[in-house]
Amino acid sequence: MTDEKAQQSFDYIIVGGGSAGCVLANRLSADGQYKVCLLEAGQRDWNPLIRMPSGLIPLMRGWHNWKFWSEPQPHMGGRRFYQPRGKTLGGSSSINAQVYIRGHASDYDRWASLGCSGWSYEEVLPYFRQSENYEPVSEPRDQRFHGKGGPLNIAERHSFNPLSRAFLDAAQQAGLPHTNDFNGAQQEGYGVLRSYHRNGERCSNAAAYLRSAEQRPNLTVITGAHATGVLLENGRAVGVRYRRRGHDRQVRAAREVVLSGGAFNSPQLLLLSGVGPREELARHGIPLRHELPGVGQNLQDHLDLYLVTKAKTRVGFSFHPTSWPRALLGLFLYAFFRRGYLTSNLVEAGAFVRSLPEEPVPDLQWQFGAVVNAWHGLRLGPVFRHYGYSIVINDNRPLSRGQVGLHSADPLAPPLIDPNYGAEGREIERLVRGIKLARKVLAQPAFDPHREVEMAPGASVQSDEELRHWVRHNAESVYHPVGTCKMGLDALAVVDPRLRVHGLEGLRVVDASIMPTLIGGNTNAAATMIGEKGAAMILEDALGSAASGEAALAA
Ligand SMILES: Cc1cc2nc3c(=O)[nH]c(=O)nc-3n(C[C@H](O)[C@H](O)[C@H](O)COP(=O)(O)OP(=O)(O)OC[C@H]3O[C@@H](n4cnc5c(N)ncnc54)[C@H](O)[C@@H]3O)c2cc1C
Repeated sequence: MTDEKAQQSFDYIIVGGGSAGCVLANRLSADGQYKVCLLEAGQRDWNPLIRMPSGLIPLMRGWHNWKFWSEPQPHMGGRRFYQPRGKTLGGSSSINAQVYIRGHASDYDRWASLGCSGWSYEEVLPYFRQSENYEPVSEPRDQRFHGKGGPLNIAERHSFNPLSRAFLDAAQQAGLPHTNDFNGAQQEGYGVLRSYHRNGERCSNAAAYLRSAEQRPNLTVITGAHATGVLLENGRAVGVRYRRRGHDRQVRAAREVVLSGGAFNSPQLLLLSGVGPREELARHGIPLRHELPGVGQNLQDHLDLYLVTKAKTRVGFSFHPTSWPRALLGLFLYAFFRRGYLTSNLVEAGAFVRSLPEEPVPDLQWQFGAVVNAWHGLRLGPVFRHYGYSIVINDNRPLSRGQVGLHSADPLAPPLIDPNYGAEGREIERLVRGIKLARKVLAQPAFDPHREVEMAPGASVQSDEELRHWVRHNAESVYHPVGTCKMGLDALAVVDPRLRVHGLEGLRVVDASIMPTLIGGNTNAAATMIGEKGAAMILEDALGSAASGEAALAA
């Protein structure tokens, strides 16, 4: 049901219809017992570019995107970093690159060892499985790790570029181990990346979880509703204030308010509501409602950079005029059959590697694209001029910690984002080693028919000193911010392991911001799992309080 006037009082209010928020909206409304309201600042996800896997390039620059920028980063040449975030139903899962990766099993065991009981890999695996419909794929798969019949469709894409094939061959020639399944028993190695696709289209979390749930009479979805504050009464969250079409409105929650605005917006909303570090609130004249020093702290993200090679063959993705006839054919095939190269998310193969043999787990991730990747498609000039291919190298084990704060008390102003990239020289060294390793793969015979010249970093950038300088002046974010409402029990923890905000009643955070440490891989699968586990805990707690209410009555 989609009518904001129909009911203004709910059992649960979810702020943010993104990756985690869509899961919550579905699971909390499933048995019809609770009235659920989902508030989403963006509009509906009707844009056909969201469905088309290769539509991610225009979405990076344009619609349905908060288009944030970081503060200037002193350790990275003083540059501001672009921080796209989805602003529509599905959130960032509606604009992201659709790469399906869970991270390394040890990432979750580390959370458990930090005091987050219930979050070891063995304990979160059932929620990953529950979220999945893992389509049969061409390579053998260990079914212990995968689910059937879940909402999120994981598939092989409908096209595979010859350059991606060359990457797989080159990785083998360079002696890298092979893995059938980055999300199975062995993350390490090179292989084919799976994606969030269904029948040749993007399967965002809105498509997976929300579409069918929206028909339920007990779920109200309000789009264009920008939450501006959590209503707190006597230490309890009782509702949410939001602005829609220039008017301020309120919705009340009888049970809980759940924040799922993502790693930048959830801490911002807590701060705007008077929940956070005392000094930060005082600086903006916001009355302190509940002191919680960790709100907005502990920001972690993956830095990445691209090794780009210009190709002499014309098989990759390009906007070069010679590719236009193929693009027309691609449009035809996509429009009528959901086939052809526009069904690709451009990142088809990859690898997880160790930059040093003594690293306990892979500390670098490579994502291969058959395209001249310049700033994740934000600079399109090179894509119009050239054919080529790129390895995007992520530092999977960042050590720097940044923060999210406020620019002002204006709830519609963007949050202050200061990731503090590159503060730890060791992560720059890791990326330097990553370039050297990737260059070895790109030099293999499998690429001989295609290779023309290295465009980035370029032949002139060779010594460690030159590479370090190049990394600091060219690395970007790969858009995996987490950690700003971290889960735990220490002084900077914002939520406990059941995702309840410390010291307040009726308020949880359920999204990527609760990760205490960044996982080694892309973050959408983990955000989805957090939504699944968060929903299960909310329902369990509701059952528990109903049972204790009955026991009290009986006594
Ligand atoms: C360009 C890009 C590419 C990426 N590629 C990949 C990839 O290939 N694979 C992968 O696994 N991960 C990828 N990621 C990361 C992944 O998509 C995110 O980690 C994940 O979507 C985060 O989920 P979330 O629920 O925490 O937040 P989001 O999905 O961002 O959802 C937050 C939602 O809250 C809404 N919201 C925010 N503030 C308010 C407010 N005040 N009021 C109301 N609504 C609000 C937002 O509009 C949004 O819909 C990518 C991200 C980006 C941006």
